[in-house]
Amino acid sequence: MTSAKITIERTQTPKSKPKDSSSLGFGNYYTDHMFIMDYDSGQGWHNPRITPYAPLSLDPAAMCLHYGQEVFEGMKAYRAPDGGAVLFRPDKNMARLNVSNRRLCIPEIDEEFAIEAIKQLVSIDKDWIPKGEGTSLYIRPFIIAVDPHIGVHPADHLLFIIILSPVGAYYPEGINPVRIYVERNFVRAVRGGMGYVKTAGNYAASLKAQDEADKQGYTQVLWLDGVERKYIEEVGTMNVFFKISGEIVTPALQGSILGGITRMSCIDLLRSWGYTVNERTLSLAEVEQAAENGNLEEAFGTGTAAVISPIGELKVEDKHLIINDNRIGEVAQRLYDTLTGIQNCRIPDPFGWVVRI
Ligand SMILES: *Cc1c(COP(=O)(O)O)cnc(C)c1O
Repeated sequence: MTSAKITIERTQTPKSKPKDSSSLGFGNYYTDHMFIMDYDSGQGWHNPRITPYAPLSLDPAAMCLHYGQEVFEGMKAYRAPDGGAVLFRPDKNMARLNVSNRRLCIPEIDEEFAIEAIKQLVSIDKDWIPKGEGTSLYIRPFIIAVDPHIGVHPADHLLFIIILSPVGAYYPEGINPVRIYVERNFVRAVRGGMGYVKTAGNYAASLKAQDEADKQGYTQVLWLDGVERKYIEEVGTMNVFFKISGEIVTPALQGSILGGITRMSCIDLLRSWGYTVNERTLSLAEVEQAAENGNLEEAFGTGTAAVISPIGELKVEDKHLIINDNRIGEVAQRLYDTLTGIQNCRIPDPFGWVVRI
């Protein structure tokens, strides 16, 4: 495991930063520096360095380009009112990166060292953390297999890279209910596959359904289980919660769903507020029935990018289930206010989730 010192080469040609944080969007800009570290069999992870942000030079036969041996993470640095910067539960992201690594035969990283690398990189580019309401610096750690071999086997040479992107509020108009399309044909993942890890292939598998939902005016797709196509899994890049007759339900993690850190944090908050939260199997039929009986009180998605996304409409074949009159629910609003309040250090952090840089 690496405990090496991170060498730093600063850019001689800093880029100009976007002036207006309201037009940042998501994933359009990258900062001046990146972190990079090599892995070679026999040598382990080595040569950690922060360098000017620049294109990579890869052999066209690099294995990640052909067989998708890749894993990634998504997290954010937030600006505190005193101008400092904080991370939100970075230990959970790095632990999950190693879960993904194990599934894809990628050598594990030293989690504490990786957090240190993130802290150093964010410190160097701290002026890139935007200031506007709802903005943050998105952090994208990822690992790619780079051996030049057109043969399928676990790589001996890999790169661990971290890049940073200043992002605006995911929904610039604030948290408004989104329209979601329940996908009946395509599936994202099955148990025993890779649904529980953040790896490129899962997102390639989702593009077609997302594209069709988009064409019909829906924001994202709600996935059903890949075997029976009966049970609710998750929404696009978010986990999903339903409030039915006072009970808050989210699908249990059984191998095909990504275990979100926002999901985990929402469960902790809701329980601390006295709500009953159950992680269990939840069929689409149960949700439809609850909607018909008037017991479907709220539905919302959770994820780092959008934080909380209330669901105003679910399209199930030719039925349109309207949830909570297409308004933001009380629970969704409280979770959003509390999570963003903790992340921006505007309210107390009783769980100790926030880490100062
Ligand atoms: C990243 C991701 C989530 C949300 O995870 P967070 O840790 O809360 O950001 C949910 N589903 C999928 C498929 C994801 O990739």
